[in-house]
Order: sequence, then C-alpha cells, then structure tokens
Amino acid sequence: MKEKKLDLEKIIWGVVMVSVIFLSFCQIFSWINEAKAAIQIKAVPEIQVLFSPHGGCTEVIVKTLDLAKQNVLIQAYSFTSAPIAKAVVDAHKRGVKVKVILDKSQRTEKYSSADFLLHAGINVSIDDKHRIAHNKIMIVDSNIVITGSFNFTKAAEESNAENLLIIRDADLSAKYIENWNKHAEHSEVYVEK
Ligand SMILES: [Zn+2]
Repeated sequence: MKEKKLDLEKIIWGVVMVSVIFLSFCQIFSWINEAKAAIQIKAVPEIQVLFSPHGGCTEVIVKTLDLAKQNVLIQAYSFTSAPIAKAVVDAHKRGVKVKVILDKSQRTEKYSSADFLLHAGINVSIDDKHRIAHNKIMIVDSNIVITGSFNFTKAAEESNAENLLIIRDADLSAKYIENWNKHAEHSEVYVEK
C-alpha cells in the first residue's frame, strides 16, 4: 500500500516537472519570437532617408524595384539613370505592372530613358499640362512611396545635393496613387524620339 502511494507521488511529481519544463520552453520560445520581431522591425524601418551625392539613393531605389511583386507607378521630371531604368525594365519582365509618367522635357532629352522603357513594352506617357511636371515619385506594390528631391539621374546620384525618402505606408501610398491617376488622366502616350 505504501509503495503504491510512493508511486503515485512520483507520477504526480513527474507530471508537475514535465509541465513546468514544457511551460518554460513555451515562454522561452515566445521571448525568442518577440526578439526576432523587434529585430525585423529595426532592420526594415518605416521611413528611411538617404542623401546625395554618393549616399546610396540609386542603390536603394534599385533594390526596392528588385523586390516589387505587383505594380510600380512612376512620375519623373528627368529620368536618365541607366541602373534605375534597368531595374524598372527587369520588374516589367518579371510581370510587375509598370506605368511611367514623364515631364515633357523627356520628349527631347537626349539621354532620357523614355525610349529604353518604351522599347521594353512599358506604358510611358508625358504630362505636358504643367509648366514643369516636377514630381519624382515611385509607388511600389501600393505600399511603398519613394520620393524627395532626387531625380532619377546620374547627376542626382553623383553630383547634386539631394534627399530621398522611402516610406512604407499603405494609406500614404493610396494618396500618391490617387494623385498619380489624376496626372495619368491628362497625360499623352509617349511617342518615340
Ligand atoms: Zn499633370
């Protein structure tokens, strides 16, 4: 009888110990996940800023375009940057829906990427309804807005004083998309030089 009682005590203690160990593991696992999430948030800030010259603006635009999955809307005053144009075409080739509005100066700008984009099959139009269509904007996957003074040019990367913001915000993106659509409505299809 006494032996049986001892066995029962052992079983109860065993169950308690296993439960404690199991719950401890659950807690540790939960802490690890929380730490991981915090690190991820730090690694991908909501707003990022870069400054030219040589501040990595072109690189971060290219990287963001390389990660685009669904759509990219672009408004550019001057667009002559070969690496950015290539990243836009690469996105288009991956099946991302890309649309570009350029200022009227790009009809005659010798080094404009307009023809390169058009030849790749991208929808390119010209907004000539303003003195200058001065926006420099990309909206990626309806979630990321890239903007600032940074034109998509080599000079903006290498010679000028510029700033570039990368903002991850769906609500803000929606406002930019609405404005992009307004300009698209009165823009004309770009015809090759
Ligand atoms: Zn317009």
